[in-house]
Parts: sequence; C-alpha cells; structure tokens
Amino acid sequence: MPVAESVTLSDMPVSKVSEERVRQIVQSDPADRRLARPPAVSGDPGSAAATLAIMLQRADQGWIEVIAGPMFSGKSEELIRRITRYHIARVPTQTFKPTLDDRYADTEVVSHSRLSTAAEPVPDSKTLLGSVADRTVVVGIDEGQFFDQGLVRAATLLAGAGKRVIVAGLDLDYRGHPFGPMPELMLRAEYVTKSLAVCHRCGGPGLFTQRVVSSDELVVLGATGAYQARCRRCYNPSEIPQQELALEPAT
Ligand SMILES: [Zn+2]
Repeated sequence: MPVAESVTLSDMPVSKVSEERVRQIVQSDPADRRLARPPAVSGDPGSAAATLAIMLQRADQGWIEVIAGPMFSGKSEELIRRITRYHIARVPTQTFKPTLDDRYADTEVVSHSRLSTAAEPVPDSKTLLGSVADRTVVVGIDEGQFFDQGLVRAATLLAGAGKRVIVAGLDLDYRGHPFGPMPELMLRAEYVTKSLAVCHRCGGPGLFTQRVVSSDELVVLGATGAYQARCRRCYNPSEIPQQELALEPAT
C-alpha cells in the first residue's frame, strides 16, 4: 500500500535507498510521495539518495492537481479516491463544491457510481478561500467548471501556502468550448489527469460531452439522459436532439 511504503521509506537509512526505489517513487502517483519525510542530503550529490532527498523536499510543498474530462469519465470518483487516501493517512482535508451542483446530496461529493466524501457547498471562489482552515493540508474541489474565474487565484494562493489542491471538473462544455476556470487551472497545475469516458455511440475514447436534449442553457443539471460522452468522430454540437434514441442508462 502507498501509505505503508512511504512510512517504510522515511524510516529507511538513506544509504539503503536504492536506485530502484527512486525510480518507483518518480513513477508513483504524486499523492503517494508527500507522506515521506525528506531524508538529509549527505554524500555524493549525484547519488540516488541525494536525488530522492531533493525530490521529497519538493514534494513537501503545495501543488495543484487537476482531473479534467467529459461527463461519465470518472472525475469525481478519482477525486474521491485521492481524498479518501489522505483521510486514511489522517492528513487533514476539506472538500468543496459549488452550491449550483445539488444532485444526490447537499454536503457530499457523490460520483455516478455512488462513492462519496463529505463536501462543503460554497457559492464562489472567494468563500471557498475563506473557508479553508489553517490546519487543512489537502483541499478537494469538485465541479471546478462551475466556479468563477477567481478559482485560479484561490488554488494558486492555497498551493503557495503549502496545500495540495485537487480540482475535478469538465474541461469542455457541451458546445466544445473551454469551460470556466478549468483551462487556466490545467495550465497552472503541476499534475493534470485527463480522464476519458466511453463514447455512448461507438465505444471509442469519449472526449466530449454531447447534449441530447434541447436547451439554450449552458448547464442542464439533474436531467437524466440529457448528456452523453462522445468520441471525436461521434461528437456533433449541432446535432438535432433525438429524443427517441434508445440510450443506455448513464452509469
Ligand atoms: Zn464514438
């Protein structure tokens, strides 16, 4: 398990840290690295141990992680997974979501597959920033696309204050346009995970969110069957809604 590995690592004499272990850590998920205490740098600066020490010092700082993709690509699930892992390690976390998104539960982030974690609904990025406690180390944010552009500044300030900010959200709206603060957050993040869904029509890599009901609103919330994930070939923002299309239930 990542947590146990990190503890073992920090307790390990630096001289015993092998090249292989450094390679494993470099390739590991960023969230796996932060629990290890940085060992003191000593001896050959080019050694595996020195490289590891420098890497862990960097990992000790705050950063921004973004999980972006279309609907049905498991973004919230991935956010919940990362937050839950910090919970298990007893790292203080807080998760926020925009008050706009009220599906399933008011004070939780719930994925389509019904995983959940506690979440505080906030109306805007300013309130979010003011709601982060000093002791909080990890700040989760779901549905980032529904926040105002100030979310970029909020995330940057939090990361600068040593917090790990994890934002999940749609990168493109149903018209195929960049969505809210997500594009700039992706540019300013240390780690970006691009999630793909399965195209509802052909099973290919779903990059886009296709609206399949008529509405001029940018957001149609809680409308079951209003959206599908589509691949590059099947996505058509000007598609005439086909209400009679036999749809697989969204999962
Ligand atoms: Zn397709």
